[in-house]
Amino acid sequence: MPNAQKGKIVLRLAPYPSGPLHIGNAKTYVLNALYAEKYSGKLLFIMDDTIGSEEKSIAPDAYKLIPDGFKWLNVEWDGKIIYKSERLAIYYKYADELIKKGAVYICECPAEKLRECRAKGIECEHRRQSAKETLEKWKLMIKGKFKEGQAILRLKTSMQHPNPAFRDRVLFRVSERSHPRVGKKYNVWPMLEFSWAIDDVLLGVTHVIRGKDLMMETEMCKFIWNIFGWPAPTILHTGLVRLKGVKLSKSKAQREVKSGAYSGWDDPRTWSLQSLARRGILPHAVREFIADIGLNDNDVEIPVENLYAINRKLLDPAAHRYSFVTAPIEIEVNSAPKIKEIKVKLHPEKEDEFKKIKVGNSFYISKKDFAALKGKEVRLMHLYNIMLDKFADFTSQENKEIPRINWVPVDFSVKAEVLMPDGVVVAGFAEKNCEKLKVGSIIQFERFGFVRLDKKAKGKLGFVFAHN
Ligand SMILES: [Zn+2]
Repeated sequence: MPNAQKGKIVLRLAPYPSGPLHIGNAKTYVLNALYAEKYSGKLLFIMDDTIGSEEKSIAPDAYKLIPDGFKWLNVEWDGKIIYKSERLAIYYKYADELIKKGAVYICECPAEKLRECRAKGIECEHRRQSAKETLEKWKLMIKGKFKEGQAILRLKTSMQHPNPAFRDRVLFRVSERSHPRVGKKYNVWPMLEFSWAIDDVLLGVTHVIRGKDLMMETEMCKFIWNIFGWPAPTILHTGLVRLKGVKLSKSKAQREVKSGAYSGWDDPRTWSLQSLARRGILPHAVREFIADIGLNDNDVEIPVENLYAINRKLLDPAAHRYSFVTAPIEIEVNSAPKIKEIKVKLHPEKEDEFKKIKVGNSFYISKKDFAALKGKEVRLMHLYNIMLDKFADFTSQENKEIPRINWVPVDFSVKAEVLMPDGVVVAGFAEKNCEKLKVGSIIQFERFGFVRLDKKAKGKLGFVFAHN
C-alpha cells in the first residue's frame, strides 16, 4: 500500500447505518481492516449517521447490527465508536470558515432551476453573494428559517466543470426529518462527503480504501482539503464487485424485514452477515473470500460459489453426516435380515466417531428417488440392497455398484425443515440422532448439503441451508 509505514497508519470503518453489513458491502470494510492488521495500524469506527435521505434512511437496528457484524468477522476497531450525529458543531465550524473564505454560497434556487443551471453550466445569481450575506443566510438556515429544499450551502467548485454532477456541489442541506439518535436537534445536515473531508483529517486518518463508485466524492474531499491547505490522506479506489448468484437489494430487504415478509435481518434473502452466520457460513470464510478479491482496480463479477467453496473446505473435514429425506414417502421392506441397529461413521474419514441408527422395516425415502428408481435394485445407504417399491423386497447385503438412496427409519425419525437461501422451506424427516444436536451445530445432510441447526421445538427441528 502506498505511503504506508508499519505502526503509523490509520484506517477507518465508516458504515452508513441503513441496515446490517452484508456480503456486498463487507468487502471494503474488511479490506480496510486487513490492511490495518497487516501494517499494525489503527482502525477507527466512524458511524456515518448523517440524516441521509428519504431513499437512504437510517435503520435504528443498524446501530447494533453493524458492530455485531464486525465482531462476528473478528474485525477489531480502536477506541469507541465515533458518531457523525454527535459532530454537527464541528461541521458547522468548518462551514463558517469556508463562508469566510468566500468558498461557498447559500443557493435558494428551486430544484428544477438548479438542475438546469448545472446541465447548462450557468451560474445562478446566488453565486455572487458576499461572504457577509452568506453568513447571515447560513445563520438563518441553522435557526430553521428555511424549509427543506428552500436553501442549500454550495461549494464553488466550478459551474463549467466537465462533469455536471461536480458543478458547485452541495455541502449542507435542510432536513426536517427526525434522526434516530438526536431527534430534531438539528435541521441542517452535511452531505457525507463533506463530513469525510473534515473527519478524515481531524481524526488523523492516513489511508482510505473505498469503492470506485466514490471517486467523485474523493475529488470533492481533495477540493476541500486544498481550500484549507490540509495534507490529503492516501485514498485507494477498489473495483466494484458483483456477486453472481446473489440478489442483493438493501431497500427491498429493509421493506420486507419491516413488513414481516422476511423473518428478520437474519433472513437468508437479506444476505446480511447475520444471515450468513445463521446459515453456517464461517466468518473466516468471508474474510478469506474478501482477501482473495484483494485490492483490485477492475470491476469483477465473482460467483458466490467461491465463498461456498472456501466454507466447504473449512467445514468438510469435521462436519458430521446425518440422513435427511425431503418430500418423503414411506416404503416397507419384506424379508430383510433382522437388524435392530446399525453403527455408522459420523464422518467418512473418522474411524472412531460413530452414531447408532435403529432400523425397523419401514423407511422414509424421497419421492424423487422413488419416482426415478422404482422397480430397480438400489442400496439403502450404509444398510442393504432392495428392489425398490412401496413394498420392497430385500435382495442382498453386498456393497455393489448400484444407485444409493437416503433413508430415515419411520420409527427413528424426527420432523425437520430446512430454510433455503431463497426463503423456501424444504420439509422432511431427519434421523432421530439429530435431536441430540445443539442449536448452532453445522452438519451435513448426506446428498443434500451443509446445514446449521437453527431452532429446536418439540418434535421438530429447524435448519438453515448453507450450500451443498
Ligand atoms: Zn441559486
